[in-house]
Amino acid sequence: MFQAFLIKYGEIGVKGKNRYVFEDALVARMKQVLYPVEGTFRITKEQGRIYVEAEGVFDYEETIAALQRVFGIVGICPVVLREDQGFEALSKDVMDYMHRMYEGVKKTFKVHTRRANKNYPLTSPEVNEELGGRILKEFPDLSVDVHKPDIMLHIELRSHHINIYSEVIPGPGGMPLGTNGRSMLLLSGGIDSPVAGYMVAKRGVYVDAVYFHAPPYTSERAKQKVVDLAGKVARYTGPIRLHVINFTDIQMYIYDQCPHDELTIIMRRYMMRIAEHFARANGCLGLVTGESIGQVASQTMQSLAVTNAVCEMPVYRPLIGFDKNEIIAVSEKIDAYETSILPYEDCCTIFVAKHPVTKPVLKTIERSERKLEEGIEERMKTALETTEVIEIK
Ligand code: ATP
Ligand code: MG
Repeated sequence: MFQAFLIKYGEIGVKGKNRYVFEDALVARMKQVLYPVEGTFRITKEQGRIYVEAEGVFDYEETIAALQRVFGIVGICPVVLREDQGFEALSKDVMDYMHRMYEGVKKTFKVHTRRANKNYPLTSPEVNEELGGRILKEFPDLSVDVHKPDIMLHIELRSHHINIYSEVIPGPGGMPLGTNGRSMLLLSGGIDSPVAGYMVAKRGVYVDAVYFHAPPYTSERAKQKVVDLAGKVARYTGPIRLHVINFTDIQMYIYDQCPHDELTIIMRRYMMRIAEHFARANGCLGLVTGESIGQVASQTMQSLAVTNAVCEMPVYRPLIGFDKNEIIAVSEKIDAYETSILPYEDCCTIFVAKHPVTKPVLKTIERSERKLEEGIEERMKTALETTEVIEIK
């Protein structure tokens, strides 16, 4: 029954020129997510309002689902748009609307009118009262509750038309993509890093990714799993340039030269170095990981400090204070969980020591890394040069 949606977006703190940047980024992203949805859509901006209008037949459910992945949207309101043809015409439209939506239901309601068109012959309270009275008469099962109504019927008297709506479907909130620069996500096949990518994108940050692959220890299937996960994340973050780095030689070299209890931490430092290289090359302003304090040995405060010490760029860890069950809840929400728990091997688990250091000391780690001086440069160079870039849509 609806052909249009009124989009509510969070504009707190978004004023002046930033407001246009925010709105334009929002509209651009809305176009992007609606592109594959069945139907033809027109998106218009008008006086602090954004509308999506569908022409002819369209997939209602898919349209809502797509818009629910657009950061910056707070609410999606299926709306009836009408030209102003006088109060009696409005009253008839409202009755039709109520019949279609709430026939025979026992609920409370309130009419809430906003009058942007100051020339409208009735004031907002007058419209509330008149329509409220008529609804009461026509719908014996409905009653008025002005404080906590089940149904809040919005009537918006705009300059060029009238909006009628009562449903607000929640959006994801956050900031529109692209309003806060670009980041490089260290994306593994686990549960955490896809969620971390989602979290930064929610704040308006574009996401590219690096994945460290260790063939033949990690299989093609493990790589495919990461590609699939990137696809899940990209539904929210927009296109991702996924860099698949062949990490085997570097890992083997560390394994041969360094104490095995320090392996994970040294490996993680090399991951950060490589991630930073590609971050720079792609204009990213920070790295993003799925780390959370204390989750595993490599994520103690000491380990995080030692890993962090190689980075020149800021490293964002959006899950830092999350418990695993909280991370899983988001993972399920973004439909990544089922893929994340597929049991394929990860490059980190292959060479992992029985008792990794949990309180590494930077000086000690740096001393161990000096043992790599002879051959690491060349291996790093090869790794960078042989990196495969996959465009995830
Ligand atoms: P995740 O669930 O994201 O894999 P985790 O709990 O397994 O995290 P670690 O293996 O210690 O934790 O990895 C910590 C972070 O390092 C990950 O969240 C991810 O950002 C990054 N990382 C780990 N392994 C890889 C990899 N093979 N490729 C890219 N990034 C990785
Ligand atoms: Mg992992």
